[in-house]
Amino acid sequence: MIERNLTDLARALATKRISSVELTRLYLDRISRHNPQLNAFITVDPAASLAQARAADERLARGDGGPLTGIPLAHKDIFCAKDWLTTCGSKMLSNFVSPYDATVIARFKAAGAVLLGKTNMDEFAMGSSNETSFYGAVRNPWQPECVPGGSSGGSAAAVAARLAPAATGTDTGGSIRQPAALCGLTGMKPTYGVVSRYGMIAFASSLDQAGPLGRSAADCAILLNAMAGFDERDSTSLDRPTEDYSRAINTASGARPLAGLKIGLPAEFFGDGCHPEVMKQVDAALAEYRSLGADTVAIRLPNMSLSVAAYYVIAPAEASSNLARFDGVRYGHRASDYRDLDDMYCKTRAQGFGAEVKRRILIGTYVLSHGYYDAYYLQAQRIRRLIANDFVEAFRQCDVIAGPTSPSTAFRLGEKAADPVQMYLSDIYTIAVNLAGLPGISIPCGLAGELPVGLQLIGNYFDEARLLDVAHRYQQASDWHLKSPTGFGECSAT
Ligand code: GLN
Repeated sequence: MIERNLTDLARALATKRISSVELTRLYLDRISRHNPQLNAFITVDPAASLAQARAADERLARGDGGPLTGIPLAHKDIFCAKDWLTTCGSKMLSNFVSPYDATVIARFKAAGAVLLGKTNMDEFAMGSSNETSFYGAVRNPWQPECVPGGSSGGSAAAVAARLAPAATGTDTGGSIRQPAALCGLTGMKPTYGVVSRYGMIAFASSLDQAGPLGRSAADCAILLNAMAGFDERDSTSLDRPTEDYSRAINTASGARPLAGLKIGLPAEFFGDGCHPEVMKQVDAALAEYRSLGADTVAIRLPNMSLSVAAYYVIAPAEASSNLARFDGVRYGHRASDYRDLDDMYCKTRAQGFGAEVKRRILIGTYVLSHGYYDAYYLQAQRIRRLIANDFVEAFRQCDVIAGPTSPSTAFRLGEKAADPVQMYLSDIYTIAVNLAGLPGISIPCGLAGELPVGLQLIGNYFDEARLLDVAHRYQQASDWHLKSPTGFGECSAT
């Protein structure tokens, strides 16, 4: 069962070959067996999950199940889920039980999916290695001495080790695509505004976007169908007609399914800075794309090199404002010992936030302060516009853009923890996509040594269905997405 894709699981549930309770038990079993090693989950609540599974079984018995009814899914602990501990990987929220559901959670509930558990993550989604979590680092199932990537590292490790069939993540600068690449998964960041941010704890609101992490593009399309859609409770949610993101995938095609597709290769993605072993796999994937009928064209994204610098002004600026709400007054951690209100704020925030979060709050407060605002924040916003314009220009010459997702494979735990700039450069190929608000997907395209390599595909605004299809055609012709780390085989319950 654990090797099945979502379509097959739905079929097995519909034809009563397995019940949702049995399937949920199978995964809960695997979590209790393997999570002590991986630390991918912060919260598992078997009673709550099994109650949802029973409800799903009733729904299936009535014959009104959908594609996700009865399927257990793991959610990044950034999504508020009613009556579940929702920590965002922080001590600040280590006692916060959410009184409401995020829209993403509510939509999965309405689809009949089972909430299998809340996954570990970098504190407030700030990081690329999952090492900033208050709940400890997550290990990469492919190589336990290595990081799974971040900030959605718990979700990625859980799906890679098959402790969950699929999961959700959020991506502010690469946090879905980079862990997908480092764990051998398919992960998509949709166009900004396609998935509601309501109830998703805010890091940098103009960049944050939720998306699916799964084992294939076809699975991600099914998840995105449930996640996407207008939400009047999020002012940046886009009111567009509902789409079926699987529609292109489900269209039959011939031997050269991508004939006519133009793939842009930005010079800036193929220069120095990428590990040669990673580049080798990316080049091989591009050769496969050519044999599927696609043409590759050389393009430029001239302002790409400024993206990390602009991001590390804009994201901390927004974070410093968003995180001002965590003051110990209404919810979350509160220092136990204080003299007066000011002292309570200071001690609460000093105790509740970890070092990386504090660093971002300091940077953000600095770049927004009087006298520096024009020099840093405004300048970064201008660069953001130039980067978005680069993509507009690029999409006049091609349909999708391709390159590596991450400059390296999974690195060792602790390797970059002491050097924030090295850590920030992990997202060198992903950040520009968030600054422009575009959709991007990472798919497994090979192994370097024993570790997975990811290929990133970037689409134009609202081109998710095409992007998923372009990823899917490659997955039909290759089997990198079917590879799994060893040591997490079928357990006795199957
Ligand atoms: N690694 C980036 C950061 O630390 C991106 C994180 C994210 O996408 N949530 O900000």
